[in-house]
Amino acid sequence: MTRVYNFSAGPGTIPENVLQQVQAELLDWRGIGYSVMEMSHRSKEFIAIAEEITQDVKKLLQVPDNYAILFMPGGGRGQFAAVPMNLLGGAAEGGYAVTGSWSRLAAQEAERYCKIWRVTDESSNGFTTLTPVNEWKLHSRLPYIHYTENETIHGVEFHDIPAVGDIPLICDMSSNILSKPVDISRFGLLYACAQKNMGPAGITLVIVRKDLLNKALPATPTVLHYKSFAENENMPHTPPTFNWYVLGLVVKWVMAQGGLETMAKLAERKSQKLYQVIDQSKLYVNDVTPLYRSRMNVVFHLRDAQLTDRFVEEAKKVGLANLKGHREVGGIRASIYNAMPEAGVDALVEFMKNFESTV
Ligand code: PMP
Repeated sequence: MTRVYNFSAGPGTIPENVLQQVQAELLDWRGIGYSVMEMSHRSKEFIAIAEEITQDVKKLLQVPDNYAILFMPGGGRGQFAAVPMNLLGGAAEGGYAVTGSWSRLAAQEAERYCKIWRVTDESSNGFTTLTPVNEWKLHSRLPYIHYTENETIHGVEFHDIPAVGDIPLICDMSSNILSKPVDISRFGLLYACAQKNMGPAGITLVIVRKDLLNKALPATPTVLHYKSFAENENMPHTPPTFNWYVLGLVVKWVMAQGGLETMAKLAERKSQKLYQVIDQSKLYVNDVTPLYRSRMNVVFHLRDAQLTDRFVEEAKKVGLANLKGHREVGGIRASIYNAMPEAGVDALVEFMKNFESTV
């Protein structure tokens, strides 16, 4: 068996210890004689697993008591619809910060339900920078403002939570959740699909202030209805039990590493190592304003674009997989979520230097 360093943007690398535990428990979960996959979601064993995960998430993210912790189907995009359906509360317009492809898609999906008020729109800058929040166009009638804290495709990350006064702030944290401590009380709601920093695809974490649970459109389907999840222990339908269980193991792994402070230090160190090589190089270029560079998705291109495929192929040969950039922007993308060991980043740094010296 050879495991390589997997720089996939998601589904992405999962801590090896977690995979080993899943393997060890696959045929017989803790003496019960079958797998978590084969367990009723109504069984006392699974209910205990689910409850423990909620408690772990609450502890790790320091979720205040006035927030509900939900686990939902539908991925990040499900939330692009769920947010307006559950939170518009009769308002005609939702507020959106458009800072990259994912927030643009969130706004596009919401357009099925309301008009879109763009508090900021970075498309004319090629999604390489952010406008400071004091220059955003806010108005008090907005029922919420949605933003994407880390743009997975463009490699742009907010390092501070935007101050938007009393307007509920909604955050897509799909690609940077669990990578730093976060003050949950600043948000009306935050969500993250699991497949980048929390485990396998198929389950989405939603943390929502409880007073926002009574605004849903009557047509909201049960599987995207926050209140139905909050009132039914996250089980108004059969949840993706196995994915939920693996997410729980990843959360425990983060806790065992030292928690979110440790993850933040690691993410800072790993990403800086890569940005340093890029900035010192004559071959590699990153166009993002340094203040807003992502600690999770390091996106760059080669000055000679014809070398890109060779870079990706040669990297693969030395065990550095999935470095090809997203088709929308091309170039290279190194996704270095929590589970990417620092040794993987060091190996990439060495490869980048060697590659540059040979071309
Ligand atoms: N938001 C962000 C920031 C993402 O990176 C992604 C997926 N790459 C999504 C939303 C969409 O998630 P899903 O594919 O689970 O719908």
